[in-house]
Amino acid sequence: MSIEINLISDTVTKPTPGMLDAMMTAEVGDDVFKADPSINALEDKLAKMFGMEAALYFPTGTMTNQAAINLHTQPGQQLICDKYAHVYNYEGGGVSFNSGVSCKLIDGHRGMMTAEQVEAAINPPDFYHSPKTALVCIENTTNKGGGACWDFEELKKIKTVCEKHDLAYHLDGARLWNAMVKKGESPQQYGALFDTISVCLSKGLGCPVGSVLLGSSTLVGEALRVRKVLGGGMRQAGFLAAAGTYALDHQLERLAQDHQKAAEIGSVLEQLPFIKKVEPIETNIIIFEIDELKMAASSFVEKLAQKQIHLIGMGQGKLRIVTHLNYTDTQHEAFLKILQTL
Ligand SMILES: *Cc1c(COP(=O)(O)O)cnc(C)c1O
Repeated sequence: MSIEINLISDTVTKPTPGMLDAMMTAEVGDDVFKADPSINALEDKLAKMFGMEAALYFPTGTMTNQAAINLHTQPGQQLICDKYAHVYNYEGGGVSFNSGVSCKLIDGHRGMMTAEQVEAAINPPDFYHSPKTALVCIENTTNKGGGACWDFEELKKIKTVCEKHDLAYHLDGARLWNAMVKKGESPQQYGALFDTISVCLSKGLGCPVGSVLLGSSTLVGEALRVRKVLGGGMRQAGFLAAAGTYALDHQLERLAQDHQKAAEIGSVLEQLPFIKKVEPIETNIIIFEIDELKMAASSFVEKLAQKQIHLIGMGQGKLRIVTHLNYTDTQHEAFLKILQTL
């Protein structure tokens, strides 16, 4: 049996036949003139879903986050985020490159911080030697934190801190879908809390590309110019937006299956003698550590690769597995068996 099992990320998903159909039959127009009906429909749908005034389609989640940061800050100012944050670690230094902003990093737990930590990280506004704190960025679920979900009560406490200190509040919700499915939360409760939210459609949902920024009409109106500056104005991208609408209608509920599979993989890993630690698994990301006295992490990856199973290392003996739309029941069964025979 030779089946390729790709567990490196939930970004490896491909459009399903139903999604391809929706793309092929999409009505399109020039979105730079706001004349693409499929993009307008996706933006309206998401704005309604989150109970926010407006939404704007972007090619990538990185661009959406970068636009949001740009909207909320002035050059020289500072944002607060966890040390694991995607905006700090994985957006190519865009925070400083695009917006001239620095990051105050919080030493949180699995990518999540407390309201107390946030408040303590704010620079006093009258102390002119320090950068002015302007923004707090949250990530849910946390990527580097292993798919962890925030406690909504803590998010509310951080909101209160933001209001008290006049800070903007942005949510990097690349995998917010996973968090909401896991916790039984609604998009409206997030929409009511944050000034801006970015969501991804290309992770686990099967879209080839796509991310959306949500916010007030004023902020989203300004985001149009920022997106232009970043080179993100697209023309007949409705073919891609149609994939997003299809994903929201058909692929959200099934994320629970990815979470279930991740939990099952975790249980098997925990039983293997050369695994030192499996981080708690809440959604579709599994981070685990190999006991390198017993087996090198690289040789574990190599052994699986020989069997056409792919995962990635995160350094220091840590490895990552991500379940997703195209990781099928058959692949899951095969993978669990192979793991048990290693
Ligand atoms: C993937 C991801 C993004 C956006 O990434 P793109 O590849 O640019 O779409 C943003 N934040 C988090 C937490 C992510 O995992």
